[in-house]
Amino acid sequence: MKRYLDWSEYTDAGMGDAYADIPKQGGDFAKAVAVCINSRQCETLAKGVMCPSFRLDENPNLSTGARVRLLKAALNGELGNGGLFTPELVEAMDLCVSCKGCQRECENNVDMSRIKIEYLAQLNASKGLSLRSRLFSELPELLAKRHWLIKLSAVRNRYPWIANLAERLLGISRKSLLPEPADSTQQYTLSEMEGGQPVVLFADTFCKHYSPDILVAAVEVLQAASCQVSLIGAVDEEARYCCGRTYLSQGRIEAARQQAGELLQKLAPYAQKGVPLIGLEPSCLLTLRDEYRALGLGEMADLVAGKAVLFEEFLAKGIKGGKLDLSWSEHAIATQQPVLVHGHCHQKAVGAMKSMRKVLKQIPGVSFEMIDASCCGMAGSFGLEAEHYETAKAMAEQALLPALAARPEALIVANGFSCRHQIRVHTGRPALHLAQLIRLLIA
Ligand code: SF4
Ligand code: SF4
Repeated sequence: MKRYLDWSEYTDAGMGDAYADIPKQGGDFAKAVAVCINSRQCETLAKGVMCPSFRLDENPNLSTGARVRLLKAALNGELGNGGLFTPELVEAMDLCVSCKGCQRECENNVDMSRIKIEYLAQLNASKGLSLRSRLFSELPELLAKRHWLIKLSAVRNRYPWIANLAERLLGISRKSLLPEPADSTQQYTLSEMEGGQPVVLFADTFCKHYSPDILVAAVEVLQAASCQVSLIGAVDEEARYCCGRTYLSQGRIEAARQQAGELLQKLAPYAQKGVPLIGLEPSCLLTLRDEYRALGLGEMADLVAGKAVLFEEFLAKGIKGGKLDLSWSEHAIATQQPVLVHGHCHQKAVGAMKSMRKVLKQIPGVSFEMIDASCCGMAGSFGLEAEHYETAKAMAEQALLPALAARPEALIVANGFSCRHQIRVHTGRPALHLAQLIRLLIA
């Protein structure tokens, strides 16, 4: 069986363990699947993220462990002719929202999100790519031709008959709003700081095309903290840089590898000098630390991964080490508006909510609360897909939407692009990135 990702980090997994039950086919990929110890922890409703599809109606066929059991059976040739693509397994994998909850919360760190990328690559190779998958995966390139895309998204959101047509032709839910790209080219003002700490700020696809104000806010906050900011990937020639997340999400590993290679070439010289590489969108920045290791990109990927850091992680570490100093305005001290924080699943998977908490604690007078919820359901493009819209909504309704409804006066902070969109779709309320909140509150 040809494998599309590099699974060599699992070469020794389960070796010498008589109970590991490694499937006969699939090589190191099969070993990654077999790290499950069948504890069924993923079939509980414990605090945390894992497993959003199981949590919906406690269907044991839709847990992480159930996916493992089906994958093992397929790799052992026990599922008949359909093999990897038997309907039961296709459905179970389809409803995995790649939240990475299991990567952190499962006792043996089953990485179903990465397994799903390989699975989709196998599926694409066998059955071909749908038009919708092509469209979603090529979003960064399409956004470069944004003039027509802005108009198309806006028109589609305004006229139900176009939304109906898009659902029929592409499978994009007519019930959901599409995110609309910002319609102006943002200007970024970078000032030279005497002796400031050099940092790179990576302009990911979602910030630069949909929410450029987040980038502006992050630049302002970092400069207020005396950082010398180099903005990478924001404008002109550089706008083509992208982490490759949209390709990985649709199983297009070759295209992702190509984008990753270009971005690594750009970032490696900074990483070599020890400059922190800061990112704002969790799913993009964390791709550099996580999935890049499975793309066979060599030492450069390790070098960049070692310096890649989320905005909140950078601030929390800097504040703790006394390297960053932000002065808060009187407004911050006087503010009475509570802040509700919804974490992106990938932030939670790397423990970055601790950093969010540390930074928010620094702000005098701000009362904040972390929402205890699993995945918001949007999960990249999942909540926009016709067959998944209701499932995605049900995921949001489990905890996130009730928590927001209970505090109608609260400011909402959500660092994930798809989380902010899901909140907007189902509540009509805007949500801020942490960078935008801090900009409001610094002197
Ligand atoms: S996936 Fe993890 S939590 Fe679920 S049964 Fe396997 S080891 Fe246990
Ligand atoms: S990545 Fe998320 S949805 Fe997929 S199996 Fe793991 S916990 Fe469940």
